Order: sequence, then C-alpha cells, then structure tokens
Amino acid sequence: MFEVKTILAMNITAGVLLAVSLRAAISTPLRESRDGLWLWLASLVAQAIAYSLLAVSETSTWALCYVLAHALLATFISLQAAALFQFFGKRLSTWWHLLPALFIGVLFALATGSAATSSIFAGVFFGTAYVVLATVAAKLGSGMQSAGLRLLVLGFSLGAVAFLLRAIPVLVMPDLLGGELAAEKLVPAGLFLSFMVIILTSVGFLVLQKDRVEAEATKLAVTDPLTGTFNRRTFLELAEKEISRARRSKEPLSLVLFDLDHFKAVNDKYGHLAGDHVLKRFVEVAKMCLRQEDLLVRYGGEEFCLLLPQTNTNDAATMAERIRGATEYSSFSIVDGKSTRPINVTVSGGVAQLGDDPDEDIDALIARADEAMYAAKEAGRNQIAVFPDDADLSALTRSQRLRAVRPVIKPPLSASTRQSGAGKLG
Ligand code: GH3
Ligand code: MG
Ligand code: MG
Repeated sequence: MFEVKTILAMNITAGVLLAVSLRAAISTPLRESRDGLWLWLASLVAQAIAYSLLAVSETSTWALCYVLAHALLATFISLQAAALFQFFGKRLSTWWHLLPALFIGVLFALATGSAATSSIFAGVFFGTAYVVLATVAAKLGSGMQSAGLRLLVLGFSLGAVAFLLRAIPVLVMPDLLGGELAAEKLVPAGLFLSFMVIILTSVGFLVLQKDRVEAEATKLAVTDPLTGTFNRRTFLELAEKEISRARRSKEPLSLVLFDLDHFKAVNDKYGHLAGDHVLKRFVEVAKMCLRQEDLLVRYGGEEFCLLLPQTNTNDAATMAERIRGATEYSSFSIVDGKSTRPINVTVSGGVAQLGDDPDEDIDALIARADEAMYAAKEAGRNQIAVFPDDADLSALTRSQRLRAVRPVIKPPLSASTRQSGAGKLG
C-alpha cells in the first residue's frame, strides 16, 4: 500500500502541473473568459493548497491545517461546479463557494482527533458532492456529443466512489474492520483514486473545450454566420449531390433564387444593422414555409437560393409564391433611434427546374433561375417568375429568353392576410 505522504505529493504535483498546462491553454487566442477555464485553474490551485495543508497536518498535530484543508477541498469542488456552469453559460451564486466551505470547516473542527469520524464526514460530504457534480455535468451537457463530457462524468463518478469508499465500510462494518483501522487503510486508497479523478476530470474539461471549439469551427465553415443558413460553398457541394440523385432517380428538382427588393434603401435609410436584422428575419420567415429536405442558403448579400428536391416547376413556383407572400405580410421591425418600427419588405424570385441535359450543372441551373428573377424585377418586383422548362429555349438570345419567362400570378389576398399587412409603415 502507498504511503499517504507519497500520494499527497502526487496529488499536489498533479494539481500544480495541470494548473500550469491550463494556464497555457488560456493564453491561446481561441480561449474566452466564458469557458470556465480560469475557474477550473483556481480549483486546481485550491486543491494543491488543500493537499499541502493535509501533508503538513500529517506531520504535525496542528488541527487548524486539517480543518482548513477540508474547507479548501470543499471550495475546490464548488469551483469545479462553477467552471462547468460557466462553460454552459450559467452562473453559480457565491454562496455555493462560501457555505459548503464553512459547513465542512465546522464539521472537521468538531471531528478533530477521530480519524473514523473524519473519514465518515469526508466520505459522505465529498462523495455526495461528486455525485452532484457528475449529475450536473451529465445534465448540462445532455445532447452534446463530446468525449470530454464522458471523461468528466466518469471522473466525477470515480470521485464519488473514492470518497464513499472511505465512509461506507466505516459506517456499515465498524466492528468487523475496526473504525480507526478502516480509516487508515481506506484513506490512502481514497487519495489515490482522487489523484486519478484530478487527471481524468481536468483532461475531460480540456477535451470538452476542444470539442466546443471544433464544433464552432465546423459550424462556421458550413454556415453563414449572420443568418445561420448554409453558406454558398457548402450549398454548391450539397446541390451537386442533389442533382446527381435527381438524375439517378429521374425525379424533378427545382431551384428558386430570391433577391430582396430595394434592400440598399433599407441600409441607406436605417443603417447596416437594420439591414442585417431584415436578412435574419427573412430567413426565419422563409424557413416557416419550407419542408425538412428543402435547402436554403444565403447565396450572396441579399440573395438566397432555395433548392427543392422532388419538386417540379409548378410546385416550386407555389412554394416561392408562398415565401414571397409571407415576406410581404410578415412583420419586419427595425430599431429606429429609440423606438422600433415596422417596415415593408418584399422579395422577388426566379424559379427554374433542372433540365434533361445531363451536362447541366448547378451553375447553369442557378443562371436560369437568375434570369427568371431578373425578369421578376423588371416586371415591377415583389413577384415570382418562372423560367419555362421548354428545351429549345437554349437557342434564344438572352433578351428573347427573358421575354419568354412567365410571371407567377399572385393569388388574391385573404381577408386575414390583408389585415395583418395593413398596419405596416413604409
Ligand atoms: P433590387 O431590388 O434591384 O435588388 O435592389 P437592391 O437595392 O436590393 O439591390 P442592390 O444590389 O443595389 O443592393 C444590394 C445591397 O445589399 C447593397 C449592399 O450594401 C447590401 N448588402 C449586401 N450584403 C449585406 C449584409 O450582409 N448586410 C447588410 N445590411 N447589407 C448588405
Ligand atoms: Mg442582389
Ligand atoms: Mg436586391
């Protein structure tokens, strides 16, 4: 069996080395104060001081060291809880740092001199605290796929076992093992498990950080940061796959290109932030009309592409018209000085269906939808136009093709839609 002093030295060294490593991680530019790393670092320092005090109390009869050490261990646990809370965007009240430390300090002051009683107090208190930490970590991180989170939960669970191990045999079989003896044998075992817990949970917390940074980087790489839709590059990749699938299955595939009307005027009149807000709101409105499999992307500044699998021109036009109508009659409010005020936002759209030509790629399909959209703008905006499916159109010049593009007739307004749009200011 290890000597207590040796294991205490191992725990102190592990705490200090991990704290130094964490400090190095914090200095990288990706780290932010919200990730809880500083709190975790503080917990490791508290833990190293606590074990140093325990080592001192091992070699002297200074009871205060023993009491302080356990109060600091309570702070170590509460700081780890605070770090977890901060990582998940929550805050732990200061009382959670003060009260457990005070409580455990008083308990250990009362238990001074009895190793068995101390073992029971430490085991029950810290064992329960670790059960709570494991539960909090699992609950806060539920839904998050992270090996770091699993390591954390495993580490905290091991911590619970380490401390409960010290208390349960002393509680359940005091006569069989003899209280003092059990405490003497179990303390080194518990301390050794604590050593493993510090390593497991700290590595787990770092991996959790790495997992989040990676997830954010992946999201940034595939989505448009302003609206949350796919970005153009991802869309083009996905669209090529959809085109191949449509050709294989001989199912129709349509594309709609939307462009917000007079969007420059929104920026000029209300500012760029208001313009950004309109872009986000448009995506919200459009998404309400979409099916799961439809692919919406911010194609350029105020241009959006919508890819509709298993959809022919007519159905795509109906969908586009629904989004146009929803945009016209949804509330778009912007902050103007100190007040918010509603503004009118409209959108024009062009529809094209994937043709039979096997050489037609996504760029060619977008180009045809763009011509239809241009025709919708020419015809007065706030409308949808369709590029006809006729194959022989390719023989026409651009202006001839534009004349051939047909507008989609807007359906008459229902009384309720008319009412919801009536109160809007321009
Ligand atoms: P039209 O009806 O012909 O489409 O007119 P428009 O004003 O919408 O078109 P135009 O191409 O003249 O202007 C597009 C504007 O979109 C200009 C640009 O400043 C703005 N824009 C592009 N990207 C963003 C963005 O991310 N945020 C904001 N707020 N504005 C943007
Ligand atoms: Mg445009
Ligand atoms: Mg525009």
